[in-house]
Amino acid sequence: MFHGKTFVVIGLGKSGVGAAKLLLNRGARVLALDEKADAKAPFEHPNLTLRAGPLPARFWEGAEAVVVSPGVPLSKSEIQAAKAAGAQVYGEIELAWRCLPKGAGPVLGVTGTNGKSTTTALLGELVKQHAPNTFVGGNLGTALTLAYEDPQRAPYDFHVVELSSFQLEGMVQAQVKGAALLNLQPDHLDRYATPEDYGKAKARIFAEQPKDGFAVVNGDDPNVVALSREAHVPVYAFTLDAQRTSAGFKGMAVGGPAKFLLMFAGNDVFKLRNRALRGTHNVQNAMAAAMLARLAGIPSEAIQKGLDVFPGLPHRLESIREVNGVEYVNDSKATNVDSALVALKAFPGNVWLIAGGKGKGAPYAPLVEAARGVVKGVLTLGQDAPAIAEAFTGVCPVHACQTLEAAVSKAHGLATKGDVVLLSPACASYDQFRHFEHRGDTFKTLVRQL
Ligand code: ADP
Repeated sequence: MFHGKTFVVIGLGKSGVGAAKLLLNRGARVLALDEKADAKAPFEHPNLTLRAGPLPARFWEGAEAVVVSPGVPLSKSEIQAAKAAGAQVYGEIELAWRCLPKGAGPVLGVTGTNGKSTTTALLGELVKQHAPNTFVGGNLGTALTLAYEDPQRAPYDFHVVELSSFQLEGMVQAQVKGAALLNLQPDHLDRYATPEDYGKAKARIFAEQPKDGFAVVNGDDPNVVALSREAHVPVYAFTLDAQRTSAGFKGMAVGGPAKFLLMFAGNDVFKLRNRALRGTHNVQNAMAAAMLARLAGIPSEAIQKGLDVFPGLPHRLESIREVNGVEYVNDSKATNVDSALVALKAFPGNVWLIAGGKGKGAPYAPLVEAARGVVKGVLTLGQDAPAIAEAFTGVCPVHACQTLEAAVSKAHGLATKGDVVLLSPACASYDQFRHFEHRGDTFKTLVRQL
């Protein structure tokens, strides 16, 4: 199927490199194309040729297929031209799926606008409690094309995969046995002409599900419920509203702050007592993960154990340490107002909020509303500090700190036993840091030095 054949791989990000490696390992020749003029081959291989710069004319000629990285829109005119000329065009997940070894277990996939990484990592934890031989990756961590980078590797029992809308677009026959759609807000409108197109890309997760598949959707999100009609497998919904009826769904999960109930397969109640899963958004993520796991045949005890031991992901409501009874929480991933809002809602009160950075132009008013009665003071940093200070004036004290170092030091001086110091900046980090991970890691270092 691959030996001696030529494949074109477009885009040399993580997924493109994964695709190229998979193809080369199977004896194919790879022509890698990357529009960045200074793109370099990530490794040397006699069968790998790289061409940096604009896509060459008729690049698909003589190729078995064109594999497109999620970073490259399929709508690009050159790629559409390849399709029109009859070339096989698909994405990295599709390639990985076609190459799963005999005996490989099913794919459980998670998509949505927010919460994909958390839910995927959590689902991985739940499944691994029962089936340790499980692959967890995709958009998060290891690319699916690299799951079997070691050709001797025994087939995994499950493949738990985060799927972005860009990855879903490039899937043709790939089957996702258990598919979760968490939520849907207008996003990536730079790449999709309309919100409907974005929704359509997300709905691809349901397109080729096998007959014994199942879908898990957010019953509180009308856009998600509408898209779930595309599914031709039983659909299960999760909700935070105990009054919601189960009409139209095969089963439901109903959640509150400390527990949730799965209303199928034995009506199990699961307790949420893990700090890494605080906040109602994490109740939703936990319900989605537990439903997929349960439907995939994972026993309830393993699911409860996984919920209890899940360590959380770095930079998302990550509890760093307590100093004199004050908890320090790193939520550096909150690069916009919506995410910071979600974080604030996870705490009942006594919060010192560290916010600011490179603002994205969205109003801070919703954050200010959520802060009333919850936030004791705001410590600002970075470019957007004046805008944040203005928004919070009259609601709570604002301390202009300029830098993260000064903010941590100030918060340390102000906070008293029972308080929480929360870095949830509501802004991008690029004005002062390389990326949000750099900002979060800097925060952690500062907090550990207190
Ligand atoms: P993604 O991989 O989709 O970007 P993450 O799990 O990395 O999602 O979470 C990113 C941010 O999205 C979190 O910091 C939090 O603010 C927010 N978030 C997480 N889960 C949800 C959810 N279920 N609903 C809404 N927002 C969420």
